[in-house]
Amino acid sequence: MNPVYAALPTTIFEKMSAIARETGAINLGQGFPDAPGPEDVRRAAAEALLNGYNQYPSMLGLPELRQAVAGHYAEHHGLAVDWQSEVVVTSGATEAIAASILSLVSEGDEVVLVQPLYDAYLPMVRRAGGTPRLIRLEPPHWTLDAAALDAVIGPKTRAIIFNNPANPTGRMYDRATQELIADRCIRHDIVAICDEVWEHVIFEGEHIPLITLPGMRERTVKIGSAGKIFALTGWKVGWMVAGKALAAQVAKAHQFMTFTTPPNLQVAVAQGLTKPKNWFEDMRADFARSRDRLVAGLQAVGYAVLSSQATWFVSVDLTASGITLDDVSFADRMALEGGVVTIPVSAFFAESPVTNIVRLCYCKDDAVLDEAIKRLAAMREKLAS
Ligand code: GLN
Repeated sequence: MNPVYAALPTTIFEKMSAIARETGAINLGQGFPDAPGPEDVRRAAAEALLNGYNQYPSMLGLPELRQAVAGHYAEHHGLAVDWQSEVVVTSGATEAIAASILSLVSEGDEVVLVQPLYDAYLPMVRRAGGTPRLIRLEPPHWTLDAAALDAVIGPKTRAIIFNNPANPTGRMYDRATQELIADRCIRHDIVAICDEVWEHVIFEGEHIPLITLPGMRERTVKIGSAGKIFALTGWKVGWMVAGKALAAQVAKAHQFMTFTTPPNLQVAVAQGLTKPKNWFEDMRADFARSRDRLVAGLQAVGYAVLSSQATWFVSVDLTASGITLDDVSFADRMALEGGVVTIPVSAFFAESPVTNIVRLCYCKDDAVLDEAIKRLAAMREKLAS
């Protein structure tokens, strides 16, 4: 058995969702919305399934979707992308991450990773033979500074995996931090693998794709996800956008992982990406309302909530909430005894974990959020000193 996988636990998202399925607990763990997703996009998929083409699409993705991705980024970020040579459609962003790492990292290369980190990155780096160089950010602001970055960059650094906006922290990095990363990438000839799946789920300011910074166009793989943009997480439709040479390289890994992605879903996502800007604004306003409802509810019953500028998540600081249990013990008790599933943030660390924070997903129906708040309140009553 390959030792990377033999030593690996089952992903925390599957573990916690399984508890919710078995116990009937409210699932504020794994990130997925209660809402069914935009009806026109779902109808387009159904129509394409019944009356469209259901054989292998092009390995790089349907031309309609690649054109839509290019058009979308031109409209939203002023980014000029050649749809024929610079877009690769993947079966979800996780596949895009895997394809990027497997095709760009070789034995002995060092890869910079920022903790807390999404749990798929590290095993893929190891599987590719890379050596992870980990940065550890600190709550509550999770800021990334030059000293931390410089401490892990060396002559063997090949890539940085940069997640912005960031899961689980809900942080958006400011322009200065992005400029810092761009500067180091250029200076040390580093490729940036940018997981930007939360690019549209933002509540403050504007998302700046790293690929748009001067000097980054040819050294960045920008990863996107229809699952996040349209709240259709089970669809597993994602993409990579990169300069021609990088795109050709990552496509070679993609071709032997999934080869392609269901064409009916691609047609529907292509249609969705052409939605007018106000659709995206309404979507954000809707999510912001749910986020504020959960945050206000939690604060009212004594929980200390860390601010979240993006993503479907908010975090609770257990220590500041008067709870001395660590995050894993709290999440287990909250799930099994309290009836609400959360995600312990220590699962996003490979070393020296922060152990007093749990992540909650807020994109649920109001009644579900209200009931969850009630249950969380009861647990805090029991535990808080
Ligand atoms: N991105 C999702 C989350 O953070 C999980 C995705 C998954 O379970 N593969 O909740």
